Parts: sequence; C-alpha cells; structure tokens
Amino acid sequence: IWADVLGYVRRNISEVEYHTWFAPVKNLGVQEGSLVLGVRNSFAQEWFRKHYLELLEDALRSLGAEHPQVSFQVLPAQQEAMLLPSDPPPPPPGRPPAERSPAAPPADNRKSLNPKYTFENFVVGPNNNLAHAAALAVAESPGKAYNPLFIYGDVGLGKTHLMHAVGHYMAERFPEKRIEYVSTESFTNDLINAIRDDKMTQFRNRYRSVDLLLVDDIQFLAGKERTQEEFFHTFNALYENHKQIILSSDRPPKDIQTLESRLRSRFEWGLITDIQSPEFETRVAILKMNAEHNRIDIPQDVLELIARQVTANIRELEGALMRVVAFASLNNVPFSRAVAAKALSNVFAPQEVKVEMIDVLRQVASHYNMPPDVIRGSGRVREVVVPRQVAQYLIRELTDHSLPEIGQFFGRDHSTVMHAISKVTEMLGKDVEITTSVNTLRRKMQGLEEEGL
Ligand code: ADP
Ligand code: MG
Repeated sequence: IWADVLGYVRRNISEVEYHTWFAPVKNLGVQEGSLVLGVRNSFAQEWFRKHYLELLEDALRSLGAEHPQVSFQVLPAQQEAMLLPSDPPPPPPGRPPAERSPAAPPADNRKSLNPKYTFENFVVGPNNNLAHAAALAVAESPGKAYNPLFIYGDVGLGKTHLMHAVGHYMAERFPEKRIEYVSTESFTNDLINAIRDDKMTQFRNRYRSVDLLLVDDIQFLAGKERTQEEFFHTFNALYENHKQIILSSDRPPKDIQTLESRLRSRFEWGLITDIQSPEFETRVAILKMNAEHNRIDIPQDVLELIARQVTANIRELEGALMRVVAFASLNNVPFSRAVAAKALSNVFAPQEVKVEMIDVLRQVASHYNMPPDVIRGSGRVREVVVPRQVAQYLIRELTDHSLPEIGQFFGRDHSTVMHAISKVTEMLGKDVEITTSVNTLRRKMQGLEEEGL
C-alpha cells in the first residue's frame, strides 16, 4: 500500500519535490487507523502537515480508504551534525507508473505522457525558442505544419519535455485523438516481444492507428536493422495518413551512423530543429519556475548562484536546486548563497562565492534594519551615514571593486569613499558598535560556519 501511495504522490508532484520530501520518509505502519509516517525533524513534520496532508489523504482515498488519516512522527534525532541529501535523483521514469497502481485513473489519451511536461512548464529562451515554436506549430495543426518534426540536442535539455508538451496540448484540444509516446527502446522491445509471441498484427495496429506518434531518442535505432525496417513501415503508414510524427535524437539525422538512408531522408522531410544549452538567464528562470511550483520561497541571488554552478544540463540544474532545498531544510537554516555553495560543494567543483557590491549593501541594510536605497541615498543623519560608511568599507575589503566604482555605486565620487574608509578604519577598535557591526557583517559574508552551521 505504501508503494501505491508513493506512486500516487509521485504522479502528482514534481520530481524535485518528490525527492526532496518523500524519498527520506519512513512508513511506520498503521496505528489506530492512521497511517504514520516518520519524518526527519520538526521542520519536515510541519511542512508535511501544511503541504502534503491532503495529497496523502487523496492517495489513500484513491486506494479505497473511506476516512483516510495520516499523521507524522519525528524520527529519532540523527547524530550527524550535517545531513546531506543522498545522491541526485535518478532520471524521471520515461512514463509514469500509472499502469501498476490499482487506483490508476481511467486510461485516456495521455496515459503515456508525464503530466509535468507541459508547455506551461517549459521556459522559453534563446537556446530553445525555435524548437519550442516548431513544437507549438505542430501541436496547433498536427500533420500539417511540419511532418515529421525532428528535435535534437544533448541530454537533459528538454527534448522529451517538449514532445510530451505537444501531446498534452493535442489531448486537450482533441480528446478523441490517439496519442502515443514511446522511447526507441520500448519500441524495439515491443517489436521483439511481438515477433516472439506472434503478435505482429497487434503491434502494427497499435503504432499505426495513432494520430500523434512521439518517438524519443531515435539515435538508438542505429544498428538495429529489423527495428528500422518496422519503423520505416510505421512511419510511412502514419505519414500517408497525415498523422503527426515527432522524433527526438541526441544528434541530427545525418550524424546517426548505420541508419538506413531511406529512413534518414524521411527524417529530413519535415523540420529539423535543435535545442542548445540554456544561457544564464534561462537557467535562472527555470530554477525560479521550479521553486514556485514546489512552493519553495528561495531568494533570487541563491537561484543565481545555483545557475552559475550548473551550466550544461537542465536535469542537473533541477538536481542542484533539490540538493540546496534538502540541505537547508535538513539543517534547518534559511536559504543563502553560502548555504547553497555549501550544499553544492560535494557535487560540483567548489567555487568561491564571489561577493558582489549589492550583496554587501543588502547585508548591511538588513543588519541596520533599513532599506538599501536609504543607505545609498543622500541622507546626512548619523543613522544613515554610519551604515553607508560601513558598507563602503566592507565593499572595498570584500570585493575587487575600485574606489571610483564603489563611488559610482553610491552615486558619489571616489574621494567620498576614501573618506568613508578612513573614517571606519579610525573607529575600529574604538567604537564598540561599529566594530561589532563590521566584524559580524564580515563573518556573515565570508562563509557559512559563522552563520550557525
Ligand atoms: P532530454 O529529453 O533532452 O534529455 P528532458 O526533456 O528529459 O531532456 O529534460 C530534463 C529535465 O529538464 C526535465 O525535468 C525537464 O522538465 C526539464 N526542462 C528541460 N527544458 C526545460 C525548460 N525549457 N523549462 C523547464 N524545464 C525544462
Ligand atoms: Mg529525453
């Protein structure tokens, strides 16, 4: 039953969310009619009560429970000072495990699609806008715009996501249409089984009666002659009936070795489009969307740090976000750039967290409890002047910026900054308040240990 509950949960939340929250949960069995789940700390307990109670009750209801009850218990304290989430999550399954669950929703035309892979959840950037536009065009007029649509690009860049998105889009507008998503591997396996069990007719019916056929990772056709032969006929049957075909691959058709030329040329009949690695801004946008979906309130500068660390692959980017979230929640600390750097240091080459002027200004502002713009403003009362001088002093110390650059940041000239710095230097060791503030702020920005971890 617990496996079924997890299956249900997994189908209804994102991978990141699932691995962050549900992977560490222990099933403690049923006590007095209530399913008891063990969680790691009171923070997680609170979080589950707030965010997942209903989902879990729904899961139990879907399994036939009339009055489902779920409670959460904190597991005995872990000895390790610092819990690290286990390895990054395994890649999401090609298709949701819907078939295995007794409470699976009625079969519909999206049963082979991952509910999370929609156009709404797809962030468009310069790296993928052509592929996105082509996919949308195909979704709007299947069989008419481009046929086949061939999407290629490195692993983890959104090919599968985009294919499923077309499926969802079509399913919504044309509920009667038949949609089939299949990896090249399952197509091959199905074929092998059909041959073995003497069920070629069923096999052909299945693949030739669809309105939209999505075949993922078609590069795996390479070297498989029988599968290529069968796929050739499937392709022709669909194509002649103006049914839409979308193919994905890690490389363009011309680079797939040992692909029959009649297949290669067919793959080139429609439109070939690629997806590249996302730029920094796109990576941040993807993280932001992910965080919002998972109801995680995480500051922009932390997302930016993650986006700087992980550059090539969106799946890894999501894994990194998950790690940071898990790390912060297990250690019960708020999100900060230092926490993120720490959480990622085991996975990615440790990278020095570069302190920016704006970081320093923000820290100083929150220390003195006033808006950053007031500190940067023109106020001349002591309450503002001291924080301003402290900020300029710390920026000079912690960043590589020159005096004129710092001056510009504050809308002043470099001699003002010089004056501020000598002022603070003079007060250090004499003025308790300023000395304490400078030391506290410096420690905060230099690392994590001093932030209570
Ligand atoms: P591929 O099939 O190219 O290997 P996937 O489609 O499996 O890549 O994408 C990997 C992960 O990255 C998925 O979780 C997917 O949702 C996410 N992803 C990829 N591109 C985007 C995007 N543009 N916006 C949001 N999420 C994306
Ligand atoms: Mg894929």
